[in-house]
Amino acid sequence: MAWKTTESESLLLQAPLRATAGGRSRRPVSGPVPVVTLGLIGMGNVGTAVVRLLQENGDLIEKKTGIRLELRRVAVKHLSKRRGIALPAGVLTDRAEAVVADPSLDLVIELMGGISPARRYVLRAMESGKSVVTANKALLATWGAQLLSAAGRSGVDLACEASVAGTIPILRVLEEGLAANRIERIIGIINGTTNYILTRMAERGESFGAALAEAQRQGLAEADPSLDVSGEDAAHKLAILAALAFGIQVRQKDIFVEGIDALTPEDFAGARSFGYALKLLAMARSEEPVVELRVHPTLIPAAHPLAAIRNEFNAVMVVGDASRETMYVGRGAGPMPTASAVLSDVIACAERRLGRCPVKEHAGPVGPRRRNVFWGNRKVRRMGEVVSRYYLRFPIHDEPGAIGVLSSTLGRHRVSLSDVRASVVDADRATGIVEIVTHGAAEREVAAAVAEIGRASILRAPARLLRIEELRT
Ligand code: NAP
Repeated sequence: MAWKTTESESLLLQAPLRATAGGRSRRPVSGPVPVVTLGLIGMGNVGTAVVRLLQENGDLIEKKTGIRLELRRVAVKHLSKRRGIALPAGVLTDRAEAVVADPSLDLVIELMGGISPARRYVLRAMESGKSVVTANKALLATWGAQLLSAAGRSGVDLACEASVAGTIPILRVLEEGLAANRIERIIGIINGTTNYILTRMAERGESFGAALAEAQRQGLAEADPSLDVSGEDAAHKLAILAALAFGIQVRQKDIFVEGIDALTPEDFAGARSFGYALKLLAMARSEEPVVELRVHPTLIPAAHPLAAIRNEFNAVMVVGDASRETMYVGRGAGPMPTASAVLSDVIACAERRLGRCPVKEHAGPVGPRRRNVFWGNRKVRRMGEVVSRYYLRFPIHDEPGAIGVLSSTLGRHRVSLSDVRASVVDADRATGIVEIVTHGAAEREVAAAVAEIGRASILRAPARLLRIEELRT
């Protein structure tokens, strides 16, 4: 990698504690502390926390790593906004283009979010030789492959630990800690907002709307929460996890997604009565030659460790063929936990810049490939073919033969019943509820049976279908 020393950097080289290592090569045994220069695009929730963490822990980072991280430029949209954090004069700009083009910067941190113009800035920064650290899961889930190729072409790093499960270093686990494994399954609670909402619904019996309003009051859900509650945000993160785990390029349309906004207190009560907890799970499963990718509300055994993950916490369980089950827990979002993950990437990139460990080459048309990102090519199993157990709830007119219609229709679709419970809701009005837990069955068959039952005029309200994941406790 060629490094140019600019006039301002040569000045820095003369300053005792703020000097860059000449040519950013290996740090001398003694002598000036190398400086890695940073630009930041976006100083909102996470960006502000990154600046704060750099200000508070910059000295500690220098003690630990022997590298001084120096924030030189920060781009925002509205210069006049009050930010509650002081920056030296001349650092703040409303021209992100100027940050990505600044030749004195080694690394750009993208924390503006969204796809456009963030993608353009990330590409420009890498093309001009800067490594990029980002927390932007929407961008990575959509353009990850192209961005990684661009990083490979430019010989720079693109790091994104903060984009999945906040402070949990799950991407490093997949890339490094479990690198020797064939990954079989990933099961994650990877959206803190929805886990907070589901925790309130489960523990306080709140409606979805009331729990969402509380999440918004606590600053845990955005004014427009649709990306979170629809499951889309978790799907973005699952695409990144599955790409790393299986070496495949994941398109969003490959992932089956169902959100939490239709869940009711009855769903939680029903799950509990059969010994389950209800969580929004993101799941990736490899069964050669196919993979399964899905995000949906799921019943899991109440005694499983994932059931104990409350509020805005995240957890990811990874099963490798050698490691077997491993689980990682931490805060999945929030400015400071996310900033912690962002700066861990910054430190790793800074160390590679200084030649302290080999530059990690991403798969791309040019350059040596020390570590390939995409090595696999797998078919994605269609949701209709997925086999799981189901919790079904049928609000029925309590008439003779109603339960017979349910069991015969399910039976015709080869859905066998593991547990059936019938209760009377209102004896005078002859209304009842039938709850069923099935054995393993193909989604296509279960959905067809439920649709057929819906046409049989024994129901007084639509049936409920929730999937069960029988995790080993
Ligand atoms: P945010 O609070 O909305 O901040 C966005 C920042 O980007 C603001 O400072 C805004 O400037 C700036 N910006 C927007 N357009 C710009 C432009 N064209 N040029 C320069 N600056 C621009 O967002 P956030 O919550 O910090 O999230 C940032 C990223 O982190 C997103 O990709 C998000 O998905 C990801 N993330 C967030 C969390 C979390 O807990 N919030 C967790 C994990 C990952 P102004 O301030 O002037 O408006």
